[in-house]
Amino acid sequence: MPKILIARNLPDNVVAEARALFDVDYRDSPAPMSRDEMVASLRDYDGVLPTLGDLYAADVFAEAGALRCRILANFGVGYNHIDVAAARAAGLTVTNTPGAVTDATADIAMTLMLMSARRAGEGERLVRAGGWQGWHPVQMLGLHLSGKTVGIVGMGRIGQAIARRCHFGFGMAVAYASRSEKALDFPATRHASPEALAAKVDVLVVAVPGGAETHHLIGEAVFAAMKPTAHFINIARGDVVHEAALIDALEKGVIAGAGLDVYEFEPAVPPRLMALENAVLLPHLGTAALEVREDIGRMAVANLRAFFAGEDVPNPV
Ligand code: NAP
Repeated sequence: MPKILIARNLPDNVVAEARALFDVDYRDSPAPMSRDEMVASLRDYDGVLPTLGDLYAADVFAEAGALRCRILANFGVGYNHIDVAAARAAGLTVTNTPGAVTDATADIAMTLMLMSARRAGEGERLVRAGGWQGWHPVQMLGLHLSGKTVGIVGMGRIGQAIARRCHFGFGMAVAYASRSEKALDFPATRHASPEALAAKVDVLVVAVPGGAETHHLIGEAVFAAMKPTAHFINIARGDVVHEAALIDALEKGVIAGAGLDVYEFEPAVPPRLMALENAVLLPHLGTAALEVREDIGRMAVANLRAFFAGEDVPNPV
């Protein structure tokens, strides 16, 4: 029976499903592995089920030397914490969990859009602080989303799920920037670059993967191109956005507001960002619902099962 490390706290029934198939060591912790733990995981297990924050950088594979491990079955669709080229060079297969995360993450994007546009975080803080004096016609006016234009940077699975919600739910026009033209089941206008897109939209949403190719894809030039009434939403990965440039743009009123689920140096959130009334800040809640996390876990376990049965893995990266 293959020996597997489950590297993080997971829903109970996912752990039980893995235990029925493998000799499982369960790392009972919500925190990422230390570097020493990651090196040991590659030496001591046939397969590892890691997740966000477990930084399998190239030097971790190099230090581990002769590896027992043959597969990293990532829990989650984003795998920018794994150096996939180094893993492959070391003979490992890497898998992820596309699809299971899509609707829940799109829902969090909508949550952030509505909260930022309608000043919900600011309003909630006002009520909790006992500062609310009562309704009046020109109090805390925000941006009305119905009929406005959303711009999606990265029209993949999650980008399309957000666009559908905006188009069919809110009557919004959809525009996007991506490397390739997409066959979409709703009307959408493609722009040549994030900057060109930014100039045309009322809400700009980022939904590209993290990693070297998209590092700081969104920075000062994008914020400068946006309308001063526009809102910026990031549910992708923090390092896609130049966070200092975003803070400048929010402080100076270059844009109206931002809704963030992810941060450049997560879980660190800069005090300047926390001080801003026009920023909605969530603690990476994209897929945080039990049934969604169970689906993600089952997909990761299914990748392990197929691999050790000698079948093609369902979700190679
Ligand atoms: P996906 O289907 O692969 O979509 C990503 C899109 O980004 C692709 O359609 C691609 O479009 C575009 N893209 C990829 N590389 C790019 C690059 N170098 N420059 C510009 N565009 C690029 O992935 P997904 O399932 O929608 O997930 C997207 C990301 O969301 C994940 O990688 C993950 O990091 C993040 N995520 C966050 C949460 C959360 O909890 N907040 C949850 C799930 C996922 P083109 O090829 O046409 O350019």
